[in-house]
Amino acid sequence: MSESADRRDRARVAFSTSGVRGPVLVTSAANIRYLTGFSGSNAVLLLGTEPDEDLIGTDGRYADQVAEESPDLPAEIDRATVAAVAGHVSGSVLGVETSAPLAVVEGIRALGLQPIAAPDVVEALRAVKDEGELALIERACQVTSLALEALIPEIRPHVTERYLARRLETLFSDGGGEDRAFPTIVASGRNSAIPHHQPDDTRLELGDLVVIDAGARVQGYHADMTRTFVVGRSPTAEQEDMHAAVEQAHAAGVAACLPGRAADTIDAAARLVLRERGLEDRFTHGLGHGVGLEIHEAPAVSSRATGTIQANMTITVEPGVYLPGQGGVRIEDTLVVADAGPRALTTGGTGLRVVGL
Ligand code: ZN
Ligand code: ZN
Repeated sequence: MSESADRRDRARVAFSTSGVRGPVLVTSAANIRYLTGFSGSNAVLLLGTEPDEDLIGTDGRYADQVAEESPDLPAEIDRATVAAVAGHVSGSVLGVETSAPLAVVEGIRALGLQPIAAPDVVEALRAVKDEGELALIERACQVTSLALEALIPEIRPHVTERYLARRLETLFSDGGGEDRAFPTIVASGRNSAIPHHQPDDTRLELGDLVVIDAGARVQGYHADMTRTFVVGRSPTAEQEDMHAAVEQAHAAGVAACLPGRAADTIDAAARLVLRERGLEDRFTHGLGHGVGLEIHEAPAVSSRATGTIQANMTITVEPGVYLPGQGGVRIEDTLVVADAGPRALTTGGTGLRVVGL
């Protein structure tokens, strides 16, 4: 049995166990890739109640690709909508993912079927990676780490944030990445206090903090990494203190990433370090997230998270401290949870590095 067929069987059991009594229409591109191997951008998957009912629908552009990537799966070409599965559904109900567009739900009704909400069981399966997935995520993380290291000589006074972002993305390609995992963040000076600042024409200045948050993608799998630098001269005492606090919070968060831990307690372990330094209210986002076929996926690792961390989950730990109008620091690694302890897949020291001297 192919890996994809095996995953479809596990999803089938999980949907059934969760009470979905009927086939399920899968519309999430990442879930379809996981369950079929098909990497095109336009498809629907009918996950039958029996394996021989499984069917993928896509459009004519992908006829050859779907035959190559999903050779064991019947394909309905020219239709990547719910209409592709019309006539293949046994029974009167069709499960639909909670992420499906309303048009899909309406399309199911138009076929005379009753749509029923299917829980996120594929997302839950995807959260725990197999060996092949771990190898690809590790490769993406290596490409990212090496590219960021190679960028360091270029982080100098007077270059723009946008220049550095484009250079880093070129280095991802040079290192074997197929694309960036998400729009690269380069945030200097006051901009570093904005967690999701998009790089612009701001030029780096002497003494600026520079937050670079980026990742490469390899065969669909993402990496996510952040480092903070100081430009052209030794850090001020305030910059050093802020960075040291985030570095300690990062270490506490990483150390807490053990199988069986409630995800919210990992966030709490990092947050406690910042609370003790009076910086908790400057840490304005969750500690981390799962990484895989999507840059943000299960499990959530935040104060509101309800899940439990398991071995072979790949998650980020990314505490930050942001002082509006002044500057910010964030340190992020992607790591794999293991019984022996977490292992960082992104590499390179977490200390505050002076660059552009
Ligand atoms: Zn990131
Ligand atoms: Zn992240």
